[in-house]
Amino acid sequence: MTITKGTEQIVNPLQESALNKKGLCDYVINVASGCLHGCTFCYVPSTPAIRTRQAHLQDQGVSNPQMDWGKYLFVREGIPEKLDQILSRKRTWHETPAGKGVVLLCSGTDPYQNKETAALTRRTVQVLLKHKKRVRILTRGLLWVNDLDVLRHPNVTVGMSLPFLDDDLSRKIEPQAPPPSERYKALLKGYKTECRLYVAAAPTPPSMKLDDFKRHLEQLMMIKPEVIFWEPINARGTNGKRMLAAGLEFAHSIMSKSSWGECFKRQWDEIELAAAEIGCIDRLHIWPDPELREYVDEAKLKQWLYKPTVENWESLSHEKTRTNSPQATPKNIKTNIVPIS
Ligand code: SF4
Repeated sequence: MTITKGTEQIVNPLQESALNKKGLCDYVINVASGCLHGCTFCYVPSTPAIRTRQAHLQDQGVSNPQMDWGKYLFVREGIPEKLDQILSRKRTWHETPAGKGVVLLCSGTDPYQNKETAALTRRTVQVLLKHKKRVRILTRGLLWVNDLDVLRHPNVTVGMSLPFLDDDLSRKIEPQAPPPSERYKALLKGYKTECRLYVAAAPTPPSMKLDDFKRHLEQLMMIKPEVIFWEPINARGTNGKRMLAAGLEFAHSIMSKSSWGECFKRQWDEIELAAAEIGCIDRLHIWPDPELREYVDEAKLKQWLYKPTVENWESLSHEKTRTNSPQATPKNIKTNIVPIS
């Protein structure tokens, strides 16, 4: 497989985000364009972050920026220096009840996918901590365990995407990401060093049933994550095509809106039942999709949209200069990239 690699410059790496809807953050920083993990279900190539930059990426040597997802990476060098300047001048900070002013790395790539992004992420986190910001890492990579000296901090929580623990299944769905067994070992290491942790048990394939959720949650609870986010695989945009191209037959069962809605509803019930039985229902945080309205009771959906997580961010005071209403208004949303999961 040919990989196209390079660097790019970005004017402002700190982007306000709509991901308070999922209880994740109020800002995102993406350390690169593209992601070498190449997960077949990844929605990022269908978002404006890639769709609106196709011509530019083609000029950089990527022939099909959507279908070639996983085969290119442009690292955004210079982020720590720019961020330091921006934060030194910044007088207001966007903080919603669900986003808690947190900065997420990353929503459109993986911050710890290789040595280059890991080095950039480490320096970026150091700048954010220098300016007393709250940081959320979300990764499928393993290199964060080398940064525990920085990440083991009350204002940092590290999350790994770990929808299941089946390495064989993972090779088909997330072909270039480290196997789930290795990710779990990394979480254990973080747990032993008392790093704040969370897990995105997402996105789960339609084949997962009640007993699979019970086994998975039982394993996850060994590392006592502060919160366990969940959502199922959603076949939308080009990711349905990419899953089928990768030979994932299950994608057929969630290709229509109704089959996806029914699958979401079933798995939602099952993971809640499993969590209640395992004793972690208080940590389970559902990521509902507003498009579920036809399949799920409106009140059940509303209960989760813009809901703060149970995570405790009060241990270190930070500069709080602007508090917004629970639902971000369109004018203050600058980034709509869906999270990696
Ligand atoms: S889901 Fe995340 S790790 Fe996987 S390809 Fe997309 S951005 Fe990368």
